[in-house]
Amino acid sequence: MEMQMDLLVEYTIRLATHMRIRDELNNLDYAQKEVAEKVAKLIVSEKRGLKYCSICAKGPYTKRGLYLHFMRVHKDDVKALLLQELEMLPRNEESETVKNSIEVAREGVEA
Ligand SMILES: [Zn+2]
Repeated sequence: MEMQMDLLVEYTIRLATHMRIRDELNNLDYAQKEVAEKVAKLIVSEKRGLKYCSICAKGPYTKRGLYLHFMRVHKDDVKALLLQELEMLPRNEESETVKNSIEVAREGVEA
């Protein structure tokens, strides 16, 4: 399940930076994709058509530069944001997969 959370982090970063979504990443369930879309919007800001990182305010970056920045510097931050959002999901929308993702992410954050 650790893999699943890593895939969700990568999916979110690719959404945020408009990089192509690999087929493997499309196996995520509906609730996970919803959460990823929300977090993707939070982590990028745009000023005069230029892209900046909302987590550390660095930039501007090219599309690929921003993708690499998130992958190298902010994987744990993105994971923490995803975890927050996953925990806020209403009970009835919580699938087994999401619950497992929360468990795995929590272990990762505390370790
Ligand atoms: Zn940053």
